[in-house]
Amino acid sequence: MNHAEKRLERYGSDSAAILSAAQKRIFNSASVSSEDCVFCKIIRGQLPSNKVYDDKGYVAFLDINPFSRGHTLVCPKAHGETLWDMKEDEIGGLFTAASKVSKGVMHATGAEGFRILQNNGEASNQVVAHVHVHVIPVMMEDKGKPMGRIKVGPEEMASLAEKIKQAIG
Ligand code: AMP
Ligand code: ZN
Repeated sequence: MNHAEKRLERYGSDSAAILSAAQKRIFNSASVSSEDCVFCKIIRGQLPSNKVYDDKGYVAFLDINPFSRGHTLVCPKAHGETLWDMKEDEIGGLFTAASKVSKGVMHATGAEGFRILQNNGEASNQVVAHVHVHVIPVMMEDKGKPMGRIKVGPEEMASLAEKIKQAIG
């Protein structure tokens, strides 16, 4: 079933119904339960990751297909798909963790700026249906350029993660 068919099945063909349903849920054909969620599996230790930060409620690890060296994802440990699935204090905690992580990322990579990106719903390009904040370090030479994925080998990923972890403290 493609995403248009799934949306039709979930909301029917009435566009007003789609809009009012969309106010409660943001459509994503990649919706999964916590059991099948790739980030929950990382959090449960069932899948490997290059972890850089871990506290009671939040975790951060390197993006497997990064936009830049040190591109990190910060997630709540509790499964939820979008910001709308989180309580306001949890959203505050998530962005506080992202800010903390950004300092380690900047320090470890020598970046001169960073982007925060947070996608909600398929239309926004959200492909992993577990809330996450991207922390993407950028250099002055990146200024004005479109973002593109880069290749970073496993050893460099591990060493970047270690440096970021040390820098966060
Ligand atoms: P988004 O488009 O906001 O849903 O971003 C999801 C991000 O998760 C993408 O940048 C992927 O490269 C990244 N990603 C997917 N699977 C993994 C994984 N197993 N470990 C680390 N990052 C991942
Ligand atoms: Zn999850």
